[in-house]
Amino acid sequence: MNKPTVVRVRFAPSPTGFLHIGGLRTALFNYLFARNNNGKFILRIEDTDRTRYVEGATENLISILNWSGLDYDEGPYLDTHGKIYQKGDYGPYIQSQRIEIYKRYAMELLKKGFAYRCFCSPQRLEEVRKLQLLNKQPPKYDRLCRNLSETESNRRAAIEPYTIRLKVPDEKIVFTDIIRDKVEFDGSLIDDQVLLKSDGYPTYHLANVVDDHLMEITHVIRGEEWLSSTPKHILIYKYLDWQPPQFAHLPLLLNPDRSKLSKRSGDVAVEEYKKEGYLPEALLNYVALLGWSTEDSQQIFTKQELIDKFSLSRCSKSPAIFDKQKLLWMNSEYIRKTDPYKLMEYSIPFFVSYGIKIDINNSEIKEYIVKLIQLEQQKIKLLKDIPYMIEFFLKPDTEIEYKENVVKKYFYLDTQKQILIEVRDMLQTITQFDKTTLEHQLRNFCSNRGYKTTEVFQLLRAAVSGRSEGPGLFDLLFFLGKERVINRINLVIKKFFLNIK
Ligand code: GLU
Repeated sequence: MNKPTVVRVRFAPSPTGFLHIGGLRTALFNYLFARNNNGKFILRIEDTDRTRYVEGATENLISILNWSGLDYDEGPYLDTHGKIYQKGDYGPYIQSQRIEIYKRYAMELLKKGFAYRCFCSPQRLEEVRKLQLLNKQPPKYDRLCRNLSETESNRRAAIEPYTIRLKVPDEKIVFTDIIRDKVEFDGSLIDDQVLLKSDGYPTYHLANVVDDHLMEITHVIRGEEWLSSTPKHILIYKYLDWQPPQFAHLPLLLNPDRSKLSKRSGDVAVEEYKKEGYLPEALLNYVALLGWSTEDSQQIFTKQELIDKFSLSRCSKSPAIFDKQKLLWMNSEYIRKTDPYKLMEYSIPFFVSYGIKIDINNSEIKEYIVKLIQLEQQKIKLLKDIPYMIEFFLKPDTEIEYKENVVKKYFYLDTQKQILIEVRDMLQTITQFDKTTLEHQLRNFCSNRGYKTTEVFQLLRAAVSGRSEGPGLFDLLFFLGKERVINRINLVIKKFFLNIK
């Protein structure tokens, strides 16, 4: 059968939990390859292993793919009520809805003599495995049922449960991988893989090959952990007289200490990065560099640049290190360049979880928040940080938090109280409460009375914000406005200098 000329690739996750950074990398590389080649990117859900199935995981996966901006052309989608529907001519795209198809091909392999029924009980298989481990042999089915006669196999099939296994020949299996070139496996070391389980469900291997063929997938781009499955897949293609797709196995992802990046090491669920306040664009940009690079080692890319520049030939086969520090740096680079209006919209859920209510229908408040975000934009690393960074602008004067160390340092001496009183009185007289006037007046105030500017400025900052760090002082005063500034100074004098006359 002739392959279609259009590139068709797929992301084929198993819904066993949250989407992992490794899964996002696979999805992204497939997406970039498809878009770069004007091809189709397909989402297929591989849920035939019912023991690993997690309720809601498919919906979760789809919504996090939506968040990341990796739009696909065919597959399952979520409607506005969160219900799954499917789109595309090759469906269904959820394997548990295609069980009969896989059975048909398992039977065909059986009929052709490339597969056989295995009647061994799980107990027997376990004993064989234990014995092999004891003898330091690789665990592998001992092929007991491989030589049953057809009549015997048919007779037992009527009364006993069985699985269907692939007849792996004792010969070399060779294929070309786009990233690794020639790859060779010794068939005599490969297990006679179960294709169909006794409950009628296919294993990953059978379902994956059948679907890649029927869905006319041209390139299989997936993680290195699937490389050792590929010879089995190559055999299934050959036995069914199908032309295999091209394969590209992406390098492993490691932690900076070179241990394998796995679910167990934490911080690998894409969901977590969303919650922390990473921008999807930044995450995609970072993940694109996990195993791929341009000749000039460019670091920051727009999505369109990634699409234009991506190629499998620039993918590496050596492991890629997942460095959270670099990702954080990249996120702050993106935040710096993002339109502050957009940042305001992005940060709304973070205000909610921080406990600050914002009336999103009040455009004045929104404008104000945009200005505040702009003030701190250069310093924001995560969206999650925004509410904390600007909360003292939004809280009522009486609810400003004065940390113990601030109180101890600034609201303690007689002279501090004196300065606050004097500076308050001076600020009262300013009619034009803008940044330039404030700076001019405050500097004059210090030099006229012989105060050190740093001392006065820090004291003032502490009194109006409760902190010793934050935006520039004149911005801080300006955005609070005269009334709140005076009020806060008065509250501080009343609250903390009680015992000082
Ligand atoms: N279902 C497999 C997974 O969970 C897909 C592997 C492949 O792409 O062939 O990653």
